[in-house]
Amino acid sequence: GTPNQFDQAADSDYAQAAARQAAEKAMATVRQQLGQTYWPIIAGEALETETVIDSENPAQPSEIVGRVGQITVEQAEQAIAAAREAFPNWRRTPATERAACLRRAADLLAERRAELCAWMVLEVGKVLREADGEVSEAIDFCRYYANEMERLDQGVNYDISGENNRYRYFPRGIVVVISPWNFPLAIATGMTVAALVTGNCTLLKPAETSSVIAAKLAEILVEAGIPKGVFQFVPGKGSTVGAHLVGHPDVHMIAFTGSRQVGCQIYADAAQLKPGQKHLKRVVAEMGGKNAIIVDQSADLDQAVAGVVQSAFGYSGQKCSACSRVIVLNQVYDNFVARLTEATKSLNVGLAEDSGVKVGPVIDGKARDRIYEYIEKGRQEATVAVSQPVPEEGYFVGPTVFVDVAPDATIAQEEIFGPVLAVIKADSFDQAIAIANGTDYALTGGLYSRTPSHIDRAQADFEVGNLYINRGCTGAIVARQPFGGFKLSGVGSKAGGPDYLQQFLEPRAVTENV
Ligand code: GLU
Repeated sequence: GTPNQFDQAADSDYAQAAARQAAEKAMATVRQQLGQTYWPIIAGEALETETVIDSENPAQPSEIVGRVGQITVEQAEQAIAAAREAFPNWRRTPATERAACLRRAADLLAERRAELCAWMVLEVGKVLREADGEVSEAIDFCRYYANEMERLDQGVNYDISGENNRYRYFPRGIVVVISPWNFPLAIATGMTVAALVTGNCTLLKPAETSSVIAAKLAEILVEAGIPKGVFQFVPGKGSTVGAHLVGHPDVHMIAFTGSRQVGCQIYADAAQLKPGQKHLKRVVAEMGGKNAIIVDQSADLDQAVAGVVQSAFGYSGQKCSACSRVIVLNQVYDNFVARLTEATKSLNVGLAEDSGVKVGPVIDGKARDRIYEYIEKGRQEATVAVSQPVPEEGYFVGPTVFVDVAPDATIAQEEIFGPVLAVIKADSFDQAIAIANGTDYALTGGLYSRTPSHIDRAQADFEVGNLYINRGCTGAIVARQPFGGFKLSGVGSKAGGPDYLQQFLEPRAVTENV
């Protein structure tokens, strides 16, 4: 392949006093701005709505981070009409100009890095370091997709003597982006700017629990010069407004990241041809995982324990890439479990804003209750090795490790989306691979090993979209580890990779006799 010529944005270095001070200052400033109201942006105007939701700090639910106006189905119709009107100009806007908007957005994200981190810490309970990584990822998506669009815009010429053959990409039309709360900035940015730079008019409907951060992103995209009607911010209820947009005959494509249940529903609903609709919709859906890391008898156990702990408990396990199963070869099982248990016990659980805290809250009360139900289920199926006490206020779940889990146990099969890890013993490497592949999902996977034949075998047979060898299985980097899975983990090509933008485009071949 071609060498990687993309320069990723650097994360903050919190070992430096200046970075820590910037973070503290931003947190103080943001705290003074809590509780403000944000309105949808339709046809370039802030639109007042009847319904406004409170977005709360999951660590201190009495603290209202912001209030966000929720559009009605009628207002969704207005947005579609505005998008339809804006499309002819946007599709004709040169790709370099569209790309320039993304590069300006990247610069604005970089300028507001510390502030955006503070919003994420407070609105979704992400610790600073991980919030900071998300700002970098959002910046990378903007700059990478800007470059990618300029590359694709060249098209391909397949000319022969007497006949010119031109292969060119065109925008599809209207794209609805439905973004998740777990990467409230990075993933919302990635899907939205991909849709925009390819020349589509784009409606962003964020997850309710992260709609303040989405409102900040909307501000940035407007300031970056995305014309009115081309980008619209349409917070609203998924079951009404979201469903209406997905089913709308004028919508060409849906880019979704979220749960398997909602993703499958969108896929089915988008397939229904509506009266007046002259195209079939494309759905890109990035859904769940039940990701496994295999630790074999040759692994560096210190490295493996650190990688598994970070992958399983980083952001309380609320990543579709998170490690929720660790499959350990019997020769090292007891040793690994002992060290994993110790390492997990040492994780500090608390407010995401406190430095030294590794595991913050989960997103809301519903998530907490669902995770606790799985933990109850796990107690019936396996043995608890670690379960941590948690603060009383807020939606906390302590990092929980189950050992001696059967590969087909509920907690080894269903995505829990919380800080719950199942340890499974394997008698051979073959068996470890079979267990790893034995779920509905194929998103990320990991292997800790110093045995070349095992590494080769994993590359060939471990069914995942992203395989990490001697590294944790979260934290994919744009243009370095294009991210996404298959099986019931999702449909579509990888975010941050060379095939992503094509999904938002319609290729045409033009042949001319000369
Ligand atoms: N891209 C993220 C990672 O590699 C995960 C995205 C997600 O959880 O949706 O950790």
